[in-house]
Amino acid sequence: MRATLSVDSIENLKSKIENSEVLTLDALDTWAHAGPSLAVLGHPIKHSISPAMHNAALAELSRNERDYSAWRYFRFDVPPADLPAALDRFHAAGFHGLNLTVPHKVIAFSHVTQIDPDALRIGAVNTLLRKSDGWRGYNTDGYGLAAAIRETLGHELAGSHIILLGAGGAARGAAVECIQRGCASLSIANRTHENLDALLSSLAPLAGGIPLRGFDPARPPANLPSGALVINATSAGLRLTDPAPVELSALPRTSAVFDMIYNPPLTPLLQAATVLGIPRANGLAMLVHQGAKSLEIWSGAPAIQTAPAMAFAAHAALG
Ligand code: NDP
Repeated sequence: MRATLSVDSIENLKSKIENSEVLTLDALDTWAHAGPSLAVLGHPIKHSISPAMHNAALAELSRNERDYSAWRYFRFDVPPADLPAALDRFHAAGFHGLNLTVPHKVIAFSHVTQIDPDALRIGAVNTLLRKSDGWRGYNTDGYGLAAAIRETLGHELAGSHIILLGAGGAARGAAVECIQRGCASLSIANRTHENLDALLSSLAPLAGGIPLRGFDPARPPANLPSGALVINATSAGLRLTDPAPVELSALPRTSAVFDMIYNPPLTPLLQAATVLGIPRANGLAMLVHQGAKSLEIWSGAPAIQTAPAMAFAAHAALG
């Protein structure tokens, strides 16, 4: 992806990101931003680079359409217990759209008035669009995953054998996306067997004719498909001292490894892929593409058009 943003140097962007304020719900009492307001809600939220990505994309859009110069994206620290009431307050304050990150994606699912069919299948929302009577919920993570794997690894989920690691919220979104796009097979591994079984049971009605199986990551079966694409949707790797969620050398030959984690950029799993000479990519492009899709939902600007500015800002934010 080639970034086209030219208005700010990387150093300027970095300093803007570091100084970008973390707001609390108290700010809504006197909310006075004149243009359309957008925000990401999470707990914690200080680490989020979404404001940098979205404000860079809005700045780029405003070069051709002045209306976008009034749009702003903010970040709010919202504890999970406060989320249901907070969604009403953001609506009352006139916000146009919201992003939800950890731990809000599932909690918000039951507090929206309308739901997009893809988000319904996943059971989680990461994007809310203002409607007159409340919020319509979407999930753009699956789009982000598919677009990132295409861009960074040149692979399509359609027709690929997938080995998916994890059984949490991100894994569920990834599994639904793989099934909907018609993967050749889906093999899922997770540390806690109960969580794996629950995920497999909920996916079974969606899978149709696609072979679906679970396995223990500590004992990969010998008959896993060869040439599979490995997707890590566990949090193992957020710390460099974490063990890799699976021993790559214990799997049949794999064609590529995608790790949803982007910070650190080279997780133990990706380090192992490098040693084995397997093409690999981290989750930064996924973050960018899911963000660009959210902005498309709010503004109508095609995701493909805003993704380069978001990528530029994301790389600057992470140094
Ligand atoms: P959840 O808490 O819902 O799920 C965590 C998963 O990781 C579970 O399957 C859990 O297994 C597993 N896990 C946690 N620690 C370990 C470990 N030490 N060893 C093996 N497995 C482990 O988190 P999410 O699904 O929301 O997120 C998962 C990851 O995906 C996070 O790192 C997140 O940052 C990333 N992500 C990236 C996105 C992007 O845009 N790039 C978007 C969304 C998520 P168990 O069931 O055994 O507890």
